[in-house]
Amino acid sequence: MSDFVADLVKRVKPSATIAVSMKAAELKRAGKNVIGLGAGEPDFDTPDHIKEAAIVAIQNGQTKYTAVDGTPELKQAIAAKLLRENHVAYQANEIIVSCGAKHSISNLLNAVINPGDEVIIPTPYWVSYPDMSLLAGGESVIVETTSDNDFKITPDQLEDAITAKTRLVMLNSPSNPTGKAYTADELKALGEVIAKRSHVLVATDDIYEHIYWGQEPLANLVALVPALKDRAIIINGVSKAYAMTGWRIGFAAGPEAIITAMRKIQSQSTSNPCSISQAAATAALDGPQDCLVTMQKAFKERHDYLVTALNELPGMTCGAGNGAFYAFPNVLAVIEQLDGVSDDVELATWLLDEAGVAVVPGTPFGAPGFVRLSFATSIDVLQAAVARIDAALKPHFG
Ligand code: PMP
Ligand code: GLU
Repeated sequence: MSDFVADLVKRVKPSATIAVSMKAAELKRAGKNVIGLGAGEPDFDTPDHIKEAAIVAIQNGQTKYTAVDGTPELKQAIAAKLLRENHVAYQANEIIVSCGAKHSISNLLNAVINPGDEVIIPTPYWVSYPDMSLLAGGESVIVETTSDNDFKITPDQLEDAITAKTRLVMLNSPSNPTGKAYTADELKALGEVIAKRSHVLVATDDIYEHIYWGQEPLANLVALVPALKDRAIIINGVSKAYAMTGWRIGFAAGPEAIITAMRKIQSQSTSNPCSISQAAATAALDGPQDCLVTMQKAFKERHDYLVTALNELPGMTCGAGNGAFYAFPNVLAVIEQLDGVSDDVELATWLLDEAGVAVVPGTPFGAPGFVRLSFATSIDVLQAAVARIDAALKPHFG
């Protein structure tokens, strides 16, 4: 008998990052002693002034529908943020607020992809890009990068990947899962390749922009290559920077026609994002920004600790990142050493069973032979996780 599930949906994989986080939470609820390094969400609490703005919004009766694409106040705060921090000017009709950056990306893909259009996605990619593209009717064109080049796509690789059917290039810097960020020169060179091809759009997923400790200031693609302004869509949100994952507020800024199309989709699907969360996000963007510095400092300390510790574990090699909150070690030598473990997916299961540590395998990021560990958790928890992995691996390394 038919299960009535659409064929397209059968081809879509569930989100691996969410699956690992859910599994760790389930095991914890069942009384298992599991350390979850799967979830990509800050452990910090949302800053008090942001929570306060939400409470005031409830008290003031801001509990009704808002404009589909966000309140004028939040859109104004986003425009001011883009000008202040990214040096790019957008009007209210070029901005849309959605239920998280994930929703903004999904709206974008649905707004611009015709069946069979190609979406260029460099590896390692955030697990959701290819499946969101598939849901929108697109064909992912996966471009392999290597650790030798810090997992960054080169202008030549990008040039070679572009065809007459290319519709969109997905860029994400700092990257989930590698933690690497493009330098201004690198980003500009990629932007110039796209600028020459007038049928190609580019989405720049800047969700980790405030979790960054590189040498030079993080550059914005549109500020670097202004010629791209009518073909670039900036994706961002408050989830990561302001520890607001549960509030579900993300946004996109781009050409008016595309934003209008996204608004039409949103008007026929979710309508506006939560009114109270929008008031909170306005306070996050307009309010004091010192919380960003405090959190960034903590993430950098955790990064430095974890990357050093992973490199001291048998069989693991981990490059340093300059942003986001993930370590992405190569684990091929570990896989080689363990009987009954033949790839990173099996290794992730082994680590959960034998060490009680939940990590995400590299395969769903398009990077077999790696695993992703989130360091959006305290140093104490990270130390405990490393000790457990060490104890589980040691007997297998003689
Ligand atoms: N892009 C990347 C690269 C991410 O890691 C995430 C995290 N979920 C998102 C977008 C979406 O963020 P959110 O929907 O929570 O705003
Ligand atoms: N972006 C986070 C992660 O990669 C949150 C989970 C998700 O939405 O994928 O873990």
